[in-house]
Amino acid sequence: MTISARYLLTDSRQISSPADSVFFAIRGPHHDGHTFIPELYRKGVREFVIEEAPFQTQAFPKAQFHVVPNAIHALQEIAAEHRRAFSIPVIGITGSNGKTIVKEWLAQLLSPDFVICRSPKSYNSQLGVPLSVWSLDAHHTLGIFEAGISQPGEMARLETVIQPTIGIFTNIGTAHDEAFQDRRQKIREKLELFRHVKTFVYCLDFTEITAELPDFLPADCQILGWSKTEAWHPFTTQSNISQAWWENLNHCIALLRHFRISEDEIQRRIYALRPVSMRLELKEGINDCYLIDDSYNNDLAGLKMALDFLSNQHERPHKVVILSDLLQSGVNESELYTQIAQLLKDKGVNQLIGIGEALQRNQMAFALPAKFFESTEAFLAKYRTSDFSDSVVLVKGARTFHFEDIIRKLSLRTHGTILEVNLDALSHNLNYFREKIGRQTKIMVMVKAFAYGSGIEEVANLLQFHRVDYLAVAYPDEGVRLRKAGIQLPILILNTSPENFQQVLDYQLEPEIYSPRHWQEFVDFLGDRQLSTSVHIKVDTGMHRLGFEEKHLDWLTDQISQHPEIRIASIFSHLAAADEAEHDAFTHQQIARYTFMADRITAVLPYQPIRHLANSPGLARFPEARFDMIRLGKGLYGTAVLPEDQENLKTVGTLKTVISQIKEVPKTETVGYGRRGVLSRDSRIATIAIGYADGFDRKFSRGTGKVLIHGQLCPIVGNICMDMSMVDVTDVDCSEGDEVIIFGDYPSIRDLASWSGTIPYEILTNVGERVSRVFYREGN
Ligand SMILES: *Cc1c(COP(=O)(O)O)cnc(C)c1O
Repeated sequence: MTISARYLLTDSRQISSPADSVFFAIRGPHHDGHTFIPELYRKGVREFVIEEAPFQTQAFPKAQFHVVPNAIHALQEIAAEHRRAFSIPVIGITGSNGKTIVKEWLAQLLSPDFVICRSPKSYNSQLGVPLSVWSLDAHHTLGIFEAGISQPGEMARLETVIQPTIGIFTNIGTAHDEAFQDRRQKIREKLELFRHVKTFVYCLDFTEITAELPDFLPADCQILGWSKTEAWHPFTTQSNISQAWWENLNHCIALLRHFRISEDEIQRRIYALRPVSMRLELKEGINDCYLIDDSYNNDLAGLKMALDFLSNQHERPHKVVILSDLLQSGVNESELYTQIAQLLKDKGVNQLIGIGEALQRNQMAFALPAKFFESTEAFLAKYRTSDFSDSVVLVKGARTFHFEDIIRKLSLRTHGTILEVNLDALSHNLNYFREKIGRQTKIMVMVKAFAYGSGIEEVANLLQFHRVDYLAVAYPDEGVRLRKAGIQLPILILNTSPENFQQVLDYQLEPEIYSPRHWQEFVDFLGDRQLSTSVHIKVDTGMHRLGFEEKHLDWLTDQISQHPEIRIASIFSHLAAADEAEHDAFTHQQIARYTFMADRITAVLPYQPIRHLANSPGLARFPEARFDMIRLGKGLYGTAVLPEDQENLKTVGTLKTVISQIKEVPKTETVGYGRRGVLSRDSRIATIAIGYADGFDRKFSRGTGKVLIHGQLCPIVGNICMDMSMVDVTDVDCSEGDEVIIFGDYPSIRDLASWSGTIPYEILTNVGERVSRVFYREGN
């Protein structure tokens, strides 16, 4: 198969040059790519790779279709074919950890010697690898690609795409991987990447890897093994340098030596290494703006990704990009900026601030409203606070332009305490549940209570991007907030009343209706307005909170028949104790009552309303309670009832603060209000910038709570104050200004909940709105 388009498109949301893109319709666990073909055709895509199955190609007369057995395999074959056209060295990296860091460091360390093509962020999957390899072009002199697998058989496919000439096996982790029988199988599977390499780098101390090498490496392969016992180390005092850091660095050094770079030069380049951050941060800025702070290298691949992220932020209508010159070697300058201008246009950017001499030279290429400055200083000298309002602003610059000065000016001032929300973890958790329930079951996500404390607009925006079926909130004002933030998904409102029915209708929100009185109020409100509206009928099956009871069913079905203009979008109920095995008989009874009541109501309707009953514990423990849709709440935010689910979920929120002051306090003194902080020894006491007004519960006082500083748990001393707390750091090497973790991976919200005798959600929803949320993506 030969394709004619220049851009490979696997995600319909990332479209930028439709006429020059070929779309691969992939069938995955959550989506079937074929369903996006009509939309893409309308946008101008004319080339498609589709899978063998009935598909009405006649509906798209101007399109060209390639029919293949498997679209991912076709994508891989096309990339493999592309790769074969280049006879440059290509480094293939795999291992349990460190792949991305080693790749990024090598790209920095070897940049004086090569024009490098590398995978953006951690594009290392069955899809990511072919997309990365596709970006190889004639001016590159070295490729660096990472490969990650989750199933047996996958690595052999990635090997044919990357065709590495140099291999790096970073390490083998202890984590148990369900898909593999054991570690040995996992190692052998990863070694498939190195079937044809001429040079191979690894750490000799992994004897399990050594044992398998003869079966995989070609006989003439040069093995560059290094051992931790004699590895070169750039520092003499190394107490705080982690094992992983050291390991990653030594892989790089082995390869630099292989390229005959002198020891002095290696040393010089290592000292010049910059930290690798692939983070893309979204946070609140001045004048109701959102800022996207992207500290990733400013190359074309990184810019594309940041623009994708920008174009999918609907919280504000206006999109601004502050961009520095791109430091992309080996490309024709005017061609590069023409391409960037096109990208900005395709991604719907409304305004550009270009900073740097190259951008200034090429300003004619940009058709959108734009201003150009020769330097960051020149921009800041002219800048006024009022220049930006009600916009999403992407700030993306190469490091030498020190755009952190711009970020500082545009950020809302915050008081040291932030809740970091990992958007990739949210996506991961959502996809985990999607896979678990299968494509036939819809998902409603509960974003009530500020999305369980995580930030309602931003979380909803991500959920819209992932095309969940429904959102639900507790009150109409939350729904209005979502609509104002550009959310178009259907939204169920759990609590409504006559005072806000107008708001509900104005913003196309869908109320839960839970009792005869409530129904009547709604009908009275509608009067003779002839509106057709959607409502959701809540029935009580044992929670005894809100809901129609069985005795209301005759009345209700009668009313529903009389009011065909009121559309019953769904019928639902709520489980009271799905997480407690001792109440399983009761839960089964609830499921039976629900089925009975839903059947009764559906019987008077000419259509089938959506049925839903299960919350997070319900969907996990009672598959039969999933019906047509599940209502996902705490599971999305990383908390599960089943251990096997918990293992697979990622931590979404990390609450952090800083040490404001440290003092030495003799044991004869006390700490804090009421002199409750009694000391058993002379102590170092750190005051941290978080108190009960931020959501750090007073129950954590006097040692009940602990916070993490430099990897060590430190107990709270005395009583938690409104805005501050004191902790014992006698045994920790720390300084003022250092980071303090309140919760995150460790300690987790489950740990905090068990210390203070509450449930994890309360820990999350307690985090005050004055704590600023920073949303970030690591990229994948
Ligand atoms: C909050 C809520 C949920 C979600 O519950 P989780 O246990 O967090 O998954 C589901 N349904 C209703 C009616 C709710 O109020």
